[in-house]
Amino acid sequence: MKQLKKEKPEMTFSSPVTAIRGIGPEKAKLFAKKNIYTVGDLLHTYPREYQDRGKIVPLSECGDGNVHAVLVTCVERPLIGKTYTGIPYVRMSARDDSALVSVTFFGKTYLSSMIRPGRKYRLYGKFTVGLYGAESNTPDIEPADGTHPLPAILPVYPLTSGMTQNMIRTAIEGCLHLCGRIRETVPEDIRASHGLLTKKETVRQLHRPESDELLKKAQRTAAFEDLLVFQLAVRSMRAEKEHFSAPVFHSSGKSFTDSLPFLLTGAQKRVIREVFSDLGKGFPMARLVQGDVGSGKTVIAAAALELCAQNGMQSVMLAPTELLAEQHCKTISRWLEPSGIRVALLTSSVRASEKKEIKKRLAAGNIDVLIGTHAVLQEDVVFSSLGLVVTDEQHRFGVRQRAALLERSERSGGRSRAHMLVMSATPIPRSLSLILYGDLDVSVLDELPAGRQPIETMILLPEDRDRIYKSIRRQIGLGGQAYIICPLVEESEDSSRSAAEQYYENLRTNVFPDIPLGLVHGRLSGNEKANAMRDFSEGKTKVLVSTTVIEVGVDVPNANVMLIENAECFGLSQLHQLRGRIGRGQRKSFCVLLNGSGKDNARLEIMRDTSDGFKIAEADLKQRGPGDFFGEAQSGEMPLNGAYFADMPLVAETKEVLESILPKIGDERFASLRDAAARKAGANGGGKTVN
Ligand code: ADP
Ligand code: MG
Repeated sequence: MKQLKKEKPEMTFSSPVTAIRGIGPEKAKLFAKKNIYTVGDLLHTYPREYQDRGKIVPLSECGDGNVHAVLVTCVERPLIGKTYTGIPYVRMSARDDSALVSVTFFGKTYLSSMIRPGRKYRLYGKFTVGLYGAESNTPDIEPADGTHPLPAILPVYPLTSGMTQNMIRTAIEGCLHLCGRIRETVPEDIRASHGLLTKKETVRQLHRPESDELLKKAQRTAAFEDLLVFQLAVRSMRAEKEHFSAPVFHSSGKSFTDSLPFLLTGAQKRVIREVFSDLGKGFPMARLVQGDVGSGKTVIAAAALELCAQNGMQSVMLAPTELLAEQHCKTISRWLEPSGIRVALLTSSVRASEKKEIKKRLAAGNIDVLIGTHAVLQEDVVFSSLGLVVTDEQHRFGVRQRAALLERSERSGGRSRAHMLVMSATPIPRSLSLILYGDLDVSVLDELPAGRQPIETMILLPEDRDRIYKSIRRQIGLGGQAYIICPLVEESEDSSRSAAEQYYENLRTNVFPDIPLGLVHGRLSGNEKANAMRDFSEGKTKVLVSTTVIEVGVDVPNANVMLIENAECFGLSQLHQLRGRIGRGQRKSFCVLLNGSGKDNARLEIMRDTSDGFKIAEADLKQRGPGDFFGEAQSGEMPLNGAYFADMPLVAETKEVLESILPKIGDERFASLRDAAARKAGANGGGKTVN
């Protein structure tokens, strides 16, 4: 239904948000901060949550400190005043049939001219019991004079600073009439048999729910569609793989693993077998290796790189940080170069002249294994015969990046692709990983190398700091080394840099003047970071002061102490990753979580009591809910709204639907669904088609 409100002519989904009444360039800038540029973007920005203001509670019953909606009549002219600290306020006295209420609106003096004795208002906020009845502090207020209906359920949108709920609600209101033009994705018969709304209705209800029941249906429909589209995208990527051939690698039986100073774990042997079997089939491998921190994933990667080189082809290994790429290059050179395999490092901080040289050698086939950061792939790197792409710590990359990698590995003109191996330390329950990584085969490294001693984790307070420093000194005396993760300082990298440096300076002059210390933080150049890491890994420095840049992958087995300042500010998965830097050698390891807040912290207690990454992930999932859990685990690109995984029956239901329609997915009625999946999988915004 079209609204009668006058709109600027011809608003479409692709119109800029300024086409909406009341949105000028200034507001548009705020929206742009949330990646909302067009009317379509805005319509697809769904509320974060909803407020139920439909249930009106009598004033006499609302004083329990919880949020309620009440309907009151103002009894006298509002008072204007100022607190001792100079904050202006408006105070209103009002009542309903059951009691009186005194409401103070701080900072909102404009309300004094709007609030009139005898008028009715709906208030929404927290109420307490005061001396003369109920009291409330700056609740939301809406006139309830009956001239326009008050919505019972109010959407609450994600905001950015400077934006208000009213601003985004009004903007949405101004383009909601376009919902009628939304193209349906799920065919009608499926909608009917699964109790779904149309997409038109879904978007409308999500923004302006008419009832609780319709809202629930709309949320279910949106989740259903997303899950279906996502799974189809992942399936198509998988199916597409079978249209390609890949080089066949034969194992010579000789490997660097025979001369390692340790024996492979059973799990490592098994996973290497799985990988080698894939590599021998002539189809592109697409395998994910999941293993907890310290389970020895690098060996698996190196074995695959070695096999590729033994079969006369080139390979590349990608890491999320320069630090990690540098470290992998060192380890893998040490393992593979003795048998004549040529390994090179390419990161953005490699000198330009050297870069040029490496690219030349790569194109001429004079480098066998290239190790680098993702930035490397974006550059004009040409291989003479690329056979394998390994990605370490893959949880940092989403489906799109995976698709891009695959495409990148297509060899010129042919139907042949390189093999792909991805490594992830993010433990995700299997049922979920099947969906998230449905385009990949999964191997699990479920065994830690023998001889590892459990890490002793303790939660301490800032006043214990001197004692902690003493213990660190003692451990260093015994031959160990320590990481100190410095306190978090807000936001900009610049301030965190100076905070890290200040912390470091203080340690150097006042605490450990006689002990060699190192410092790494995000602002150092690649070379500076690498130097600091080298000194620490060679034992030249005994304490490494660091920001979270060492979070992933860093491996210095002699380090056995970690102090994490402000541990209460980190997520569980991040703490687990950080702690995974110690406990890698034979030494007994200690991790101190410094709780700067002083308040009890359930997350830190989980860390103290658990070392198993899967258990921690589960606890994390339970505590924070799947949305936040995946928000962090999948930082960078979210493949799917994690909240959907809370509803496993729905996941199963959509999976079943997908199975049933796959045989006829080429039919015209699935065209729109196919397009949506192609957009999701498409690395370049959807140029690809899905069959
Ligand atoms: P991940 O990448 O899975 O966190 P790494 O590959 O960095 O773990 O391995 C952690 C440490 O364990 C490294 O120092 C590595 O050399 C060592 N390591 C790997 N496999 C074994 C094994 N089977 N026995 C003993 N040490 C091992
Ligand atoms: Mg690793």
